[in-house]
Amino acid sequence: MAQEYDLVILGGGTGGYVAAIRASKLGLKTAIVEKRELGGTCLHRGCIPSKALLRSAEVFKQTKEADRYGISTENPTLNFTKVQERKQSIVDTLHKGVQGLMKKGKIDVFEGFGRILGPSIFSPTAGTISVEMNNGEENEMLIPKNVLVATGSRPKSLPGLEIDGEVVMSSDEALHMEELPESIIIVGGGVIGIEWASMLADFGVKVTVLEYLPHILPTEDEDISREMLKQMKKKGVDIVTSAKVLPDTIEKDNGVKVDAEVDGETVTYEAERMLVSVGRSANVDNIGLENTDIQVENGIIQTNDVYQTKESHIYAIGDVIGGMQLAHVASHEGMIAVEHMADQNPHPMNQDQVPSCIYSNPEVSSVGLTEKAAKEKGFDVKVGKFPFQAIGKALVHGETDGFVKIVADKESDDLLGVHMIGPHVTDMISEAALAQVLDATPWEIAETIHPHPTLSEAIGEAAMAVDGNQIHG
Ligand code: NAD
Repeated sequence: MAQEYDLVILGGGTGGYVAAIRASKLGLKTAIVEKRELGGTCLHRGCIPSKALLRSAEVFKQTKEADRYGISTENPTLNFTKVQERKQSIVDTLHKGVQGLMKKGKIDVFEGFGRILGPSIFSPTAGTISVEMNNGEENEMLIPKNVLVATGSRPKSLPGLEIDGEVVMSSDEALHMEELPESIIIVGGGVIGIEWASMLADFGVKVTVLEYLPHILPTEDEDISREMLKQMKKKGVDIVTSAKVLPDTIEKDNGVKVDAEVDGETVTYEAERMLVSVGRSANVDNIGLENTDIQVENGIIQTNDVYQTKESHIYAIGDVIGGMQLAHVASHEGMIAVEHMADQNPHPMNQDQVPSCIYSNPEVSSVGLTEKAAKEKGFDVKVGKFPFQAIGKALVHGETDGFVKIVADKESDDLLGVHMIGPHVTDMISEAALAQVLDATPWEIAETIHPHPTLSEAIGEAAMAVDGNQIHG
């Protein structure tokens, strides 16, 4: 017998499960269909496990450098099996937490693969959802008033550099390595590439990054990507930019060998393993979109600003609609979609108010426009920059690399963007995000009293530096 719901969500990742909780709080009878585990990519194959490994790499690095802090440690060694066990136990704890939240919210979870069958006379608004159950039982039929597609994304591979899971890996397989390789080639110097380069170099792996564009982290402010290049080189990472990998030259014999065209010359790179991190593809296949009028362009579902597709009762959020493929974006979009279904009149999300974070060592965080993007939009910009080198707490921490950069409009004094690289900047970006939401000026950020000694003083100083009024620099 088909079961009726106000909302059925395809995909129980961060976007899907947060939307389900919001829906349940708004009184909607809700179900999630999930083919793998609740928590999705972020919890099982992304944010959480990678950050757990990064933390171990950081502790290992700091322990090796403990002498700097007056602490003697004798020849610290790495037990990678324990590193992996710690990571898994964090994932398991959070996974149980999400399962508990579903129970608390009285959200039904169907473990299986969901397909949209399209609107019909039985279900004229959003259509029936058929769930092919993981346990092999007969398909469940769900009749929802609304559907939310939150099926996420998967790592892209390059033709010729297909992921074999052993020698050529995506981040999915890299997270489950039982042993660290001696050396690795990372194809793609974006967010995943740089987080892994940083982590593996801190664990002692010899890392080469091959990036196609002239800069690593190409979507960040150019000052940030230049500083990151410097910091990665300091760690011993070999970064090759403007590198055109030639996939048909790959040889997998006792490791991996590949040619790349760099500055008009062909160079051969060799390592024990390869990680391909060249972006992610939206999961739009086999979910029944062909039974609907939903538009898919360049592999991503098209929606309006409250995440309705062409079928007004079918919404889509998260990586499957492209844009900023970030967990906090997916969950925010999910809440907007659900509030719209429940006639709550939510505010559309403003991309310039979305913070983004990179958890390498040093960390990167940003919100709003880069200096280049602001100029391209026609703003006459003024910039304030302040280094952590001049911040007492950074010296205390022993981490003085990096800076805070604030971009503002000369004419109106409006804040346009904040970009940071350095210690704990991912925990400091929320101040800048709030400033963006409140339409603050750099002057108002500087008026906000930043406690001493803290790393956040760098934000206050950078805000003053916009008009040349910084104190300590
Ligand atoms: P990305 O888009 O951040 O970076 C991909 C990089 O690969 C780019 O620099 C691109 O120029 C390069 N590239 C593309 N084709 C190439 C080729 N043939 N040879 C060499 N380089 C090539 O993608 P990603 O790093 O794979 O991450 C995927 C998504 O996941 C991104 O949207 C990212 O923001 C998100 N993510 C976010 C976090 C975080 O928030 N900390 C962490 C991991 C992933």
